[in-house]
Amino acid sequence: MTAGGGRHAPERTCVQCGKTGGKPSLLRIAGRPGSGWEPDPDRRKPGRGIYLCRSSECVGRFTGRIRTAKGAARWKMGVEGSMLADKVSAWWAAESDRNAGGVDG
Ligand SMILES: [Zn+2]
Repeated sequence: MTAGGGRHAPERTCVQCGKTGGKPSLLRIAGRPGSGWEPDPDRRKPGRGIYLCRSSECVGRFTGRIRTAKGAARWKMGVEGSMLADKVSAWWAAESDRNAGGVDG
């Protein structure tokens, strides 16, 4: 007989809108002191992870935020904030391209 156990799927919270979701629905962004921040869609990189919805709204807002000194300071990114914003934007453009089946509607 199996006892239920309190195991549940790990959930992560979007840093932008606060929505929670399973790992696959969120983009992981990995950061390590000294080596910078980068998108980590495969969730394999070591270091600290922050999570962001795979939505144009959250990606757009988050990248806009970390391009500013104040926004980047939230995660102690410093100048790396704008570098990360470029990387995330590039990732999102490729991702959207791959998923584009036509016009939304
Ligand atoms: Zn979000």
